[in-house]
Amino acid sequence: MPTKRTEPVAKRTARRRRRVGSDAELIGPTPILPVRDTVLFPHLVVPLFVSRERGVRAIEEAMARDRTIIVLAQRDPEIEEVGPDDVFDVGTEAVIGRMLKMPDGTTSVLVQGQRRARISEFTQWDPYVKAIAQPMQRTIEKTAHVEAQMRAVLALFEKCVQLSHALPNDAYVAAMNIDDPGYLADFIASTLELGIDQRQSVLAAVDPGERLEQVSILLSKELDILELENKIHEQVQQEVDKTQREFFLREQIKAMQVELGEGDPLTRDVEELRQRIETAGLPEAAKAKAERELSRLAAMPSMSPETGIIRAYVDWLVDLPWTTRTEDHLDLKDAERILNQNHYGLAKIKQRILEYIAVRQLASSMRSPILCFVGPPGVGKTSLGKSIAQALGRKFARLSLGGVRDEAEIRGHRRTYVGAMPGRILQTMRSAGTINPLFMLDEIDKLGMDFRGDPSSALLEVLDPEQNAAFSDHYLEVDYDLSQVLFITTANILDPIVPALRDRMEIIELPGYIEEEKIHISKQFLVPKQLEENGLKPQQLRFSDAALRHIIREYTHEAGVRNLEREIGAICRKVAKDVVGGHKAAQAVVETSLEKYLGPPRMFYGAAEERDEVGVATGVAWTEAGGDLMPIEVTVMDGKGGLQLTGQLGDVMKESAQAAYSYLRSRAEALQIGPFWESADIHIHIPAGAIPKDGPSAGITMCLAMTSALTQRAVSREVCMTGEITLRGRVLPVGGLREKILAAHRQGIRKFVLPKKNKKDLTEIPKDVLRQMTFLWVEEMDEVVALALLPAAPAPRPRRRASKAA
Ligand code: ADP
Repeated sequence: MPTKRTEPVAKRTARRRRRVGSDAELIGPTPILPVRDTVLFPHLVVPLFVSRERGVRAIEEAMARDRTIIVLAQRDPEIEEVGPDDVFDVGTEAVIGRMLKMPDGTTSVLVQGQRRARISEFTQWDPYVKAIAQPMQRTIEKTAHVEAQMRAVLALFEKCVQLSHALPNDAYVAAMNIDDPGYLADFIASTLELGIDQRQSVLAAVDPGERLEQVSILLSKELDILELENKIHEQVQQEVDKTQREFFLREQIKAMQVELGEGDPLTRDVEELRQRIETAGLPEAAKAKAERELSRLAAMPSMSPETGIIRAYVDWLVDLPWTTRTEDHLDLKDAERILNQNHYGLAKIKQRILEYIAVRQLASSMRSPILCFVGPPGVGKTSLGKSIAQALGRKFARLSLGGVRDEAEIRGHRRTYVGAMPGRILQTMRSAGTINPLFMLDEIDKLGMDFRGDPSSALLEVLDPEQNAAFSDHYLEVDYDLSQVLFITTANILDPIVPALRDRMEIIELPGYIEEEKIHISKQFLVPKQLEENGLKPQQLRFSDAALRHIIREYTHEAGVRNLEREIGAICRKVAKDVVGGHKAAQAVVETSLEKYLGPPRMFYGAAEERDEVGVATGVAWTEAGGDLMPIEVTVMDGKGGLQLTGQLGDVMKESAQAAYSYLRSRAEALQIGPFWESADIHIHIPAGAIPKDGPSAGITMCLAMTSALTQRAVSREVCMTGEITLRGRVLPVGGLREKILAAHRQGIRKFVLPKKNKKDLTEIPKDVLRQMTFLWVEEMDEVVALALLPAAPAPRPRRRASKAA
């Protein structure tokens, strides 16, 4: 037991008596009933359940006497065994109305409060509590002030009743009918939800005016809380109303659509997609995925923005070809016929393609190598691909990889991205419509790489027969089978292709055509094709051989025939316009009519230079578009041994120029060019100045141009050359020989100075070219000088003039 309870009751009660004073009217000793959660106010009737022994005994005692008892509230309702300090001083004297003994031993009583009473002294604590008390009744006159206070309290109470769900309207009516100010305060305090301390404080206020004051403060606080509660409630209600309204309207739209026979659009879409999934022949994993997404879609409100995303996704799944395929047509005779029908020449390549088809016929399950066609634009790479597709009876699909820098372009973006789509591989497969098309990957040498990832690694997966049966696209999320696709790639040049990719492929080179081949191709293929495309009949327009030769020489400048075809097309269009316009249309295109159709010639055919020039030598460059002539100019000026290089030269080319310069210095005596490094500056320029150039193969050309400028001996305009130079003047082999020879031939140059070690590369050159050209094989720079420099002119021009000309 707590120590304070051990204090004798007599001693504690003595203390109380001192506080209360002794001159007022006293009642008792009267039985006391301590209660836990209630404060009883005078006038009010409340039921009480009593279970503690002392309480029950006190009630019995009161019933036996005059039914009067004093109800005291406990300070802490948790305390079971209360002592004098655990109850409030002020309680209410009450009359017990009815008493009921319950079967469980507790007692239920109905008590009515009579008046306030302050305990003066506890006279006994056991077996029940008894005390002497002093009644605290005070009435006041109803002054205007009190009246005003009452009205104010009533007004507040009315508002509270209106706002609160817990206070019944009757409570206000009852309050309105109370005349006594003190009673009014008590009544209202008893209806409000207050803590024990607040109630007790009202009970302890003897003065009715003060009580009204307290109650009015309590009411204002209550009102604040109620108003706030109401505001929150209203906001919540508004939200709920809005969504309910939308839901209701949507349901109405649905109902109207059903009424109009249109059905609910989302349900309709879901149904349609379900049917498409059934008939699309999806593999198990893809089908399960599609069905899962469809269930999600069906469960969504139709206005949700996600429905569009899911719909697009399921669309993709069902639109991709999963099982649709074409049967391979493996007849070699037919294939050969188709290849010949569409292409002139290319005998070796056609042979290789036929072998390829034959192998497929023998071992269809065997994974055939991936062909890679390498060559300049317009040599027929794409059209060969198309012909192979046609020969095999496969669908043809094409994807250009030029400028693809992002792995996501190959593999797609995850669906979490806004506007995500599958990668280009799957987009192309969808447009192909079968699972086994011939798939041409164009410009594989132009594949970029940057911070967004390496597309070539994704491409490796596409081309790897071990992996491509389960190609993973970020968007699709399910594996896609690319193993039945026949891939063919194309490139302009081999060098930029990543080695790992190059190893997967069988390279087939298409070097470009010579003039005679171009004329044949034009006559057999390009002219008939363009006539037909422009709605002309063969008898309406003929091209003479001479006209075609002129177009090739003076209007095009290419290894392939793409521009040639375009020029022929341009002429056909103009003639077609004349025919339609009722003008007298030409029936034949001859050499002289070209200017009328195509304007003045754009290229100058013939040797690179019109005269034998001093300080200019003709080199040959190897570019993506095939080969091209590259004149190199050198000027010697007064100076102190400087070497200036212009024309956007790369590092390798600059170093090559330095090597040539140093070699010349070492040969100054033999060439009789004196110590030029003491008195002259040399400037090498390679037009066109805006096009970047690089590589070592212009070494001998630069060296020869410098020799020419220093010796003032002209370079033969009939000769062109290529070769790397070493410091000691040796000539080393170079690459791209075939394209270079064809380019020189195209430009009408017939003498070509070449490194001896390149002799082996002549095998692939067309016979016509070999017959028409003279190849001058060299090992030393001295030989180049001897072959290409003309003897000194009788009256050499003074060096000054050359520098002025610059
Ligand atoms: P590439 O893909 O190599 O750039 P294309 O296949 O687009 O070249 O060819 C350009 C045009 O030239 C096409 O119309 C093609 O039919 C035609 N062509 C190219 N080579 C030949 C050839 N050997 N015989 C017939 N036509 C050809």
